[in-house]
Amino acid sequence: MSCSTPSDPSTLVDRFGRRISYVRLSLTDRCDMRCRYCMAEDMVFLPRAEILSHEEIIALAGQLVASGVSRIRLTGGEPLSRRGATDVARGIGALLGHGLDELTLTTNGTFLADHADALWDAGIRRINVSMDSRDPERFRHVTRQGDLARVLGGIAAAKASGFAIKINMVALNGINDDEIAPMFDWCIEQGFDLSLIETMPVGSISEDRSSHFLPLSEAQARIAERHDLVPSTHRTGGPARYWSVPGHASRLGLISPLTQNFCASCNRIRISATGKLYMCLGHDTHVDLRAALRGDDPLALDRLLDQALGAKPERHEFDLSRAATTRHMNATGG
Ligand code: SAM
Ligand code: SF4
Repeated sequence: MSCSTPSDPSTLVDRFGRRISYVRLSLTDRCDMRCRYCMAEDMVFLPRAEILSHEEIIALAGQLVASGVSRIRLTGGEPLSRRGATDVARGIGALLGHGLDELTLTTNGTFLADHADALWDAGIRRINVSMDSRDPERFRHVTRQGDLARVLGGIAAAKASGFAIKINMVALNGINDDEIAPMFDWCIEQGFDLSLIETMPVGSISEDRSSHFLPLSEAQARIAERHDLVPSTHRTGGPARYWSVPGHASRLGLISPLTQNFCASCNRIRISATGKLYMCLGHDTHVDLRAALRGDDPLALDRLLDQALGAKPERHEFDLSRAATTRHMNATGG
């Protein structure tokens, strides 16, 4: 195993033979929402001084692409809550066609209307927007601080700009399970895909995640009562398994880390806004890239990537009765 060099752009391969081609890059751990399954209400964010600068993030993306990474997703925290997020997107977008095949974004939608055009200009064509309910009060309950009207406005603006949109919905038993089938109907109407996500024990929260856990097989069964679901070979580089509906463009994606382990085909790593590279969503092990990014040894980053690949765990060991990690999902963006 070896990590790549710019002249050998195809060998980001871990010790289990998995090729790493996809990076989730967190622009910030901060967020305007406090989704109950994601973080605590009194979440403490990282000191701003520890966050990588725009230039450092763009340079890091360049080095990752030179090492064989072909897809980057900007995430957070809420990526669009970072001032200059679209400048970073533009800087990374300049790599499209030069080793980078796709730049995407996951957002909660609050600031999407303000930035949709700039994101398009940066070269982004697909956006995932997280929305767990279309009922304003329920949305407020789940996010503690979210404003559904702004999110819907952001989605409408992104649709008008031409983006392919996927709605991310964490399936929560007793909270939004009755909205799952209607959400898919709405996505079909709008021409969006829908990805359902099982709640994962990443970081401690005040609530018991197991009490709201919904296996996605149940969610799928509810949708199948209304629609003919046909297994699809569609892949977006992520862990979702897709179903299509004859006569409609919209697809249903299921991300089931608890009930359908997909670690054997894992192709990704995650980098926090401070430059910590996490090899697995379900583990705290990481290597810190920040000093290498700030130093003058041109090979330091390659060495750290090698170290990370050698330490990438085989799989997560999620168990809803305990948090698998000390960090929360907002550190690495899911
Ligand atoms: N703030 C942005 C957003 O919400 O889309 C990007 C970051 S957020 C951490 C990325 C995705 O992770 C969202 O779709 C969110 O619903 C999901 N997520 C957060 N915590 C989760 C958890 N504990 N289990 C499953 N999904 C989670
Ligand atoms: Fe913020 Fe996204 Fe976490 Fe919700 S899921 S609190 S929007 S980072």
